[in-house]
Amino acid sequence: MSQSNKPNRRSFIGKLASLGGVLGLAPFAINRMIGAEIAKPVNTITPLDKPGATMVSTWNHGIQANIAGFSALSKGGTALDMIEAAAKLVEEDAEGLSVGIGGLPDRDGIVTLDACCMDHTGQAGSVAAMQDIMYPLSVARKVMEETPHVMLVGEGAKMFALESGFKSTDLLTEKAREAWLRWMEKHEYKPVINIENHDTIGILALDNEGRLSGGCTTSGVAYKMHGRVGDSPIIGAGLFVDGAVGAATATGLGEAVMRTVGSFLVVELMRGGLHPQAACETAVKRIIDSMDVSNLQVGYLALDKTGRHGAHAIHSGFNYALTTLKTENLIDATHG
Ligand code: ASP
Repeated sequence: MSQSNKPNRRSFIGKLASLGGVLGLAPFAINRMIGAEIAKPVNTITPLDKPGATMVSTWNHGIQANIAGFSALSKGGTALDMIEAAAKLVEEDAEGLSVGIGGLPDRDGIVTLDACCMDHTGQAGSVAAMQDIMYPLSVARKVMEETPHVMLVGEGAKMFALESGFKSTDLLTEKAREAWLRWMEKHEYKPVINIENHDTIGILALDNEGRLSGGCTTSGVAYKMHGRVGDSPIIGAGLFVDGAVGAATATGLGEAVMRTVGSFLVVELMRGGLHPQAACETAVKRIIDSMDVSNLQVGYLALDKTGRHGAHAIHSGFNYALTTLKTENLIDATHG
């Protein structure tokens, strides 16, 4: 895809505005998404479906992702459709430096994407280190639904995507290339995540029928070694869903999450009776107790099958978007 054909900020905002229209969102919600001042904070999602549907997504971009998810629900979609629609919106935003097109490349200047999804029946799909395909979570869903496998990586994942009708796209935007060139001047290989800035999107959704699904999509740690894969596409690490219990997702330094099988742990703690908030706190404590966390951030987000939610991170700065029929909030996670 040529640079001029790449989705730009304006088309992204246009898409948000029309999604807001579908959902009956007041202009304030759209304005907030695009950074304008909020005059009057009122919640205005119109009841297009029955009560109960709930979405939580990591970071600020979770607000617009959740709107896309609810739009899919209003068209008759399932929790998994909500997840895919939410992921797509963020993956195709060329301005975002950590998900989909526009994601920062590895140290060799190559953008590689990781994503996974899981539904309430325990089905799971994943792609890792995939190049040139703009919608990795949709490819992961196809792996789940159309192959006997859970995970495809690298060239095999790309081949499968192309065979499935996805287009080959240059994912390295000018903005990301310039950032990489600036990094190349010093070329310091420090795969240490910036505590304030890592924006993988993890998304958890409960639909009107009480089905739970989850997804996670990322370009991974910036300037990583070529071939490095983090937690985000690893079932049990970056995401885990048990339809009878709850779902959890992670953001932050993937190596710390993988070493403690974080999202699986959060769900197992909920199975044992913990509230999602307490489960996230306990899983974060597991990391704090097992490694030096002064230079790394991890945040967990969880939603149980009754719609209760919680989030906790090692350091401050982690937030998540909560959307239900009655409310739309950006919530600061607890930390420590
Ligand atoms: N968890 C992701 C990874 O390690 C990074 C992130 O959350 O931004 O690849």
